[in-house]
Amino acid sequence: MPLDRLWFDPAQVFIGGRWLTLPETLPLEDPSTGAAIGAIARGGAAEIDAAVAAAEAALAGPWGRMTAAERGRVLARIGALVLARADDLAVIEATDVGKPLKQARADALALARYMEFYAGAADKLMGETIPYLDGYTVYTLREPHGVTGHIVPWNYPMQIIGRSVGAALAMGNACVLKPAEEACLTALAFARLAEEAGLPAGALNVVPGLGEEAGAALTAHPGVRHLSFTGSVGVGQLVQAAAARNVVPVTLELGGKSPQVVFADADLDRALPFLVNAGIQNAGQTCSAASRILVERSRYAEVVDRMAARYGALKVGPALSDLDVGPLISARQKALVEGFLALAGDLTLAARGQVVEGAPAGGHYVAPALLADVGPDHRLAQEEIFGPAQVVIPFDDEDHATAIANGTGYGLVAGCWTENGSRALRMAKRLRAGQVFLNNYGAGGGVELPFGGVGLSGHGREKGFEALYGFSVLKTVAAHHG
Ligand code: NAD
Repeated sequence: MPLDRLWFDPAQVFIGGRWLTLPETLPLEDPSTGAAIGAIARGGAAEIDAAVAAAEAALAGPWGRMTAAERGRVLARIGALVLARADDLAVIEATDVGKPLKQARADALALARYMEFYAGAADKLMGETIPYLDGYTVYTLREPHGVTGHIVPWNYPMQIIGRSVGAALAMGNACVLKPAEEACLTALAFARLAEEAGLPAGALNVVPGLGEEAGAALTAHPGVRHLSFTGSVGVGQLVQAAAARNVVPVTLELGGKSPQVVFADADLDRALPFLVNAGIQNAGQTCSAASRILVERSRYAEVVDRMAARYGALKVGPALSDLDVGPLISARQKALVEGFLALAGDLTLAARGQVVEGAPAGGHYVAPALLADVGPDHRLAQEEIFGPAQVVIPFDDEDHATAIANGTGYGLVAGCWTENGSRALRMAKRLRAGQVFLNNYGAGGGVELPFGGVGLSGHGREKGFEALYGFSVLKTVAAHHG
């Protein structure tokens, strides 16, 4: 879909059901070519103020008066529209983020699934009755926070909007969404579809802009009652500090250095595609990327060889060519990743993929790199590279594997491959992560599966039914009737 045929204006903000053009804009870049292809709005504190006011008005108006079942119906209609436009949304996302078309399409389908899931869940969160003193009836209510702030990164805009805005709307909150300045088009596309589906004005507001302007204004705003942040650890710390000043709850979905642990008895034929794909998906710009592969020593060389063969065949090129790997999001991200790869020094570079001939010179391409014999304490094995690179590390036994796997500050996702069922269950308990995959690796996938981290990977859970608890407040009502 050429950008001049979009069903929304990429340079506008969406506040209180109105599309507004701002005097200041930011450049819109295609990462596959590095070329400027348009402009987006540069929202700031004034637009955030207006968006919070519009959200408050929505809560006091038709949106706030809707029953849970009615909210579910609106979400179902949004999901149907997203599904109908999935191909267009995929092209928009591929162009904006640089991800291969099939990944962008999977993201569009996930956005539709989040709407379907939360449409069905909207009227299913029940309170409880609590046995108490004689003469009392006590029960609990689940109520919306009010205005919720959502700050989203550029790597999976549709999936992250789906999981956080979807759950927040299902619970009856009114949302102010600040998408990333690098990729905000599908946030606007989604808002236009939500409008078309009949979402009342002000229930969803979208303000693109810079993190330190629109983002910081949203986190500092006293009218915002809950913050959902997905992004880097450093900015997450700023968001949590801002939330502390206003004493509001915050969900932090941050980075990771997720391991897949491969025991000697693993079914390698089945494991191999998961080991590699979970590292190079979205050019490694995935919070739950399996960036560390831990292999029992007796099969270490074999796994490195087999992964290297796959790496050697990986093709990198423009998003719309739909190859294995697309460009990175920006020149800045490319420089960061190349800086990490330069650290490899004398370490064994087991294999690299190839940038295809004819890939535009201005695109932000990095050939995927498989690094073997990297010590578990090396920076490459400790820090989030956020690019197409994986390290492969040998281990001796379960204790050793556990110590290495749990030996970073992060704890987002972990995988374990073994045909020994007892060991699989033991490892699931021992691995320090918010999600553990046994004999598979979902890279955070699964709309139904609660997701979130421990340690530097953040706190709070989104996705699945669990998210509804985070996006609501429990009220206890004690009635005395004698
Ligand atoms: P980032 O933290 O730089 O930006 C994320 C968002 O925060 C953007 O919308 C940005 O504009 C905004 N922001 C920046 N400065 C801000 C400020 N001072 N106040 C408020 N908002 C501000 O992260 P990024 O580089 O865009 O994304 C990459 C990071 O996100 C990686 O660390 C990755 O692991 C993490 N991530 C985590 C998950 C998860 O679910 N756990 C998912 C995707 C990405």
